[in-house]
Amino acid sequence: MSKLRAAAAGGLRRSGGRAVPCAGDNRRGASPRRGDPAPVPALHLFGDPAEIQALRGNLLAWYDRCKRDLPWRTLASAEPDVNRRAYAVWVSEIMLQQTQVATVIDYYNRWMQKWPTLQALAEASLEEVNELWAGLGYYSRGKRLQEAARKVVSKLAGQMPRTAEDLQKLLPGVGRYTAGAIASISYGQATGVVDGNVIRVLCRLRCIGADSSSPAVIDRLWDMANALVDRSRPGDFNQALMELGATVCTPKAPLCGECPVKQHCRARHRKLFGKLTLVPDVEDCGVGGCPLCPPATEPWDSSLGVTNFPRKAAKKQPRVEQTATCVLERRGRHGAPEYLIVQRPSSGLLAGLWEFPSLPLAPGLQQEKQREALEDHLRAWTGQPVAAGSLRFIGEVVHVFSHIHQTYVVYSLSLDGDVTLDLASSPYRWVTEEEFHASAVSTAMKKVLRACERQRGEESGPAKGSKRKRGTKSGGAGST
Ligand code: SF4
Repeated sequence: MSKLRAAAAGGLRRSGGRAVPCAGDNRRGASPRRGDPAPVPALHLFGDPAEIQALRGNLLAWYDRCKRDLPWRTLASAEPDVNRRAYAVWVSEIMLQQTQVATVIDYYNRWMQKWPTLQALAEASLEEVNELWAGLGYYSRGKRLQEAARKVVSKLAGQMPRTAEDLQKLLPGVGRYTAGAIASISYGQATGVVDGNVIRVLCRLRCIGADSSSPAVIDRLWDMANALVDRSRPGDFNQALMELGATVCTPKAPLCGECPVKQHCRARHRKLFGKLTLVPDVEDCGVGGCPLCPPATEPWDSSLGVTNFPRKAAKKQPRVEQTATCVLERRGRHGAPEYLIVQRPSSGLLAGLWEFPSLPLAPGLQQEKQREALEDHLRAWTGQPVAAGSLRFIGEVVHVFSHIHQTYVVYSLSLDGDVTLDLASSPYRWVTEEEFHASAVSTAMKKVLRACERQRGEESGPAKGSKRKRGTKSGGAGST
């Protein structure tokens, strides 16, 4: 069977798609008909069933030898109950979105200890979910996970949907990737997954250099992942591909020499031999015309080697914002400091989390104007006069959210006695430092408190009395 017919037999394209050798060389193929999907150049395909078989075997053997010991893998392999197993995988997949494995492990263990089943999670309050999620980022993930668990319990009689298609259709917050991961790992459904690691590995294996975030390339990668997935061990195969991307085929310094699929890697071949002359029936794509090659304006750069792939369109710059925030402090019982925190609205960024009283600032506002705006805000909110100059400037704390570059302009204010706040504006409470850290507060707010404590430490430390950098105005922070 020719390579091109084998490609068709391998089902590597959506129905109606055709494989062509590349660089516009389609003399060996039938003429395209109007309305046909764009043909996939053979360079970018897995066209040989024997090669697919070998790749699966090499990857799975490596995975069996080298896979990391991770709590969700242990749970999933030992759990006989299919709903519990799917839940255990689901929680890990949601936590791992945008977050490193090392960070997730502790959160995952605490979560599964607290809510070992869907039913337990469905009964939890959102406040509890936010408290446990605090510091993990992208807080809507925890909220949606809980909403979906409630739906499974109340609408689906506690039964998780049993296919990737139904998981995606029926569960809020479950997209194509998460559905594929749950279905392949928990149910053994032969369905592929495409995440950041898989994108990188596949783009390198098949020299895909067009914008890897474009729908056209993503569609091709899904086709490829679905065709490659091992039919008898789909969950392990998918995890192996992701593991390879995370530990060997890393973004900047891939360990090609240790790679279990290096003999199938066309990026490596190109790096070693300059051209793909040793790959039968496959010619290097020429400039232009190929929908999966790098754009003609950004050709192969030999100094980059395999890291020529994948490529992404330039990332949109995050929005720049400034927020004035005030650490309101009083002496609590036994003289220990207590801090006032208020709850954010139940939707939008950091929904339902707690923070120090904060006020978004208009761009370009001078520092004195920022201070006045914050004073006005606190005055209206506490119903108390805020003496001019009593707000103490601590410094600036920068926190980068996925799409916002946020600068918190931090002030502190010490209060004598209690204040009665306008409860209509937002719920509030006084917390000790320990309670603050156990509350549903964001990492940014923890940085803000650290900045205040650092300032206080500097003032009460051995350097007391010596010259040091201070905020613009001393208001006796930390002492009421
Ligand atoms: Fe990645 Fe290198 Fe393996 Fe290719 S050979 S898949 S570039 S690690």
